[in-house]
Amino acid sequence: MKKIGLIGGMSFESSAVYYRQINEAVRDCRGSLHSAEVMLHSVDFQGIVDLQKAGAWEKAADRLAEVAVNLERAGADCVLICTNTMHLVAEHVQSAIGVPLIHVIDETARAIRAAGKRKALLLATRYTMEHGFYADRMAQNGVEITLPDAADRAIVHDVIFNELCAGQILEPSRKMLLSIIEKAKADGADSVILGCTEICLLLDPDQLPLPGFDSTALHAGAAVDFALGKREAEARAA
Ligand code: GLU
Repeated sequence: MKKIGLIGGMSFESSAVYYRQINEAVRDCRGSLHSAEVMLHSVDFQGIVDLQKAGAWEKAADRLAEVAVNLERAGADCVLICTNTMHLVAEHVQSAIGVPLIHVIDETARAIRAAGKRKALLLATRYTMEHGFYADRMAQNGVEITLPDAADRAIVHDVIFNELCAGQILEPSRKMLLSIIEKAKADGADSVILGCTEICLLLDPDQLPLPGFDSTALHAGAAVDFALGKREAEARAA
């Protein structure tokens, strides 16, 4: 089994979900007491949040690249950045290491296309929704992104940072996000991306007004496929 390197802590609430889902998937696949070979470097999130707020993306890129290099040196066969937002610096992180970076946008796009969907509402942090890196990469993958309006983007961003990253799951926020999804459905979206790794703590992707794509589950599942050699098997069979 290959070793999975996780850059986590952004926030630790979602890294815990990755850790559990990766191990459960390996146990489901291999049986008995099998579990995943995982290396997790969990950063101090406040330091990253400060860099995000300052727009200091190059410093954040260097920090995450340093962590990725250490995971590779420790034996990781692949690396995951366990947050959508910090995929803003994914290319820099990938260029610092020799092992593959499993990219959350590519994995999410693959699932959306496989389901025959093309026009997805993105629920995410303001950085992910507004910076352009996410929509551009989705477009390269054949998926069009639609966004909530400015007021709703502010709501989603605040729910993520003030509540979900702080361990609070609140029913009024769940209702607000559901009403944002309803509006997008009325405007023609055919699916919704839980494009922040904490949103799965608040919304069940199978209980939404539109088909839901949970970036955390898709990313964690891709890591397991890689670790168990399923990707190579798929490629050989194709
Ligand atoms: N985990 C979140 C995401 O997937 C937000 C935290 C962050 O800003 O990295 O984007």
